[in-house]
Amino acid sequence: MSFDLAARLAARRADNLYRHRPLLDSPQGPQVVVDGQPLLAFCNNDYLGLANHPQVIEAWRAGASRWGVGGGASHLVIGHSTPHHELEEALADLTGRPRALLFTTGYMANLGAVTALVGQGDTVLEDRLNHASLLDAGLLSGARFNRYLHNDATSLARRLEKATGNTLVVTDGVFSMDGDIADLPALVRETKARGAWLMVDDAHGFGPLGATGAGIVEHFGLSQDDVPVLVGTLGKAFGTAGAFVAGSDELIESLIQFARPYIYTTSQPPALACATLKSLQLLRSEHWRREHLQTLIRQFRRGAEQIGLQLMDSFTPIQPIMVGDAGRAVRLSQMLRERGLMVTAIRQPTVPAGSARLRVTLTAAHSEAQVQLLLEGLADCFQQLSPEPNHA
Ligand SMILES: *Cc1c(COP(=O)(O)O)cnc(C)c1O
Repeated sequence: MSFDLAARLAARRADNLYRHRPLLDSPQGPQVVVDGQPLLAFCNNDYLGLANHPQVIEAWRAGASRWGVGGGASHLVIGHSTPHHELEEALADLTGRPRALLFTTGYMANLGAVTALVGQGDTVLEDRLNHASLLDAGLLSGARFNRYLHNDATSLARRLEKATGNTLVVTDGVFSMDGDIADLPALVRETKARGAWLMVDDAHGFGPLGATGAGIVEHFGLSQDDVPVLVGTLGKAFGTAGAFVAGSDELIESLIQFARPYIYTTSQPPALACATLKSLQLLRSEHWRREHLQTLIRQFRRGAEQIGLQLMDSFTPIQPIMVGDAGRAVRLSQMLRERGLMVTAIRQPTVPAGSARLRVTLTAAHSEAQVQLLLEGLADCFQQLSPEPNHA
């Protein structure tokens, strides 16, 4: 029988992999209302607490009054407006690159950059834990597509030896489900030695990482020569929506010519660019947000280790707790919710089978008291589910 969707859905349920969309009935923040229930949440990517910031909201409001609400057309037709242009210049300045190009989403930025740079006869090599949008981009590019072992420069080097054509090496900056960061100095060494290009998607690094929040390339002090293609998204620490690619003038001009997800889509609302410009100013000037976040991360790790939870090698706001079994992860997430805490269970195919986890994310909008409540809830739930919380 064709299209037996009922059977597919039933199988997904039976595997504990069925996805539900929690209904949010409040703005983003630590205190949310989800499915009618007030909860203390540790799941969003609003790392600096800007998604509901009064100044950002006001910038959006003023932008809508001045520029209207719709982009109206694609950038190449008549949709590229002054706020978009100013935001691109500010993003270029933040990243220390000559230019930046605004995309509507991070998914499209990745798709656009990879498919514009490589095609048939070329090679694209990716970390096997890269974000789905990067993996999809590699597949769609038509280039020879291969994945190397996670964060393993030796595994990459072996694949680089066999690479043909223009070779693009692609990695997440901060790995979105593990919270660890790419070993960029090693990847830079390998790519440069082979004349390949390195593309870094730093969706989770902009904001939390680097002395001024300019992400993992600032953290490691890497130049445009080291990382020719730099991607950032605006829906996470910037608190708004959209994404950008930063790099040389030639790179940006090439994307304008050849990146189909850039060309064939309506530009984002100009008012949104106004809001993002404001959040970028806050990201650059209010360093206490990054510092407070680091304090919370240390507090969480210390507390979680005392309880005996299995953390990952992460100093970023992404602090997953390894559970293993998908059913168990879902059960823990439900138990936390009954206590008024929201932490998402992450399962396959988002992460490899058998490595289900609770994905805790911390933000500058959280308080130390709230992190303490989370730790107490985790201690209770892990204890209740099994006498030895270590044995996931
Ligand atoms: C969230 C994310 C994206 C997608 O960005 P959107 O703007 O949400 O489409 C891309 N890459 C990584 C690593 C991400 O975490």
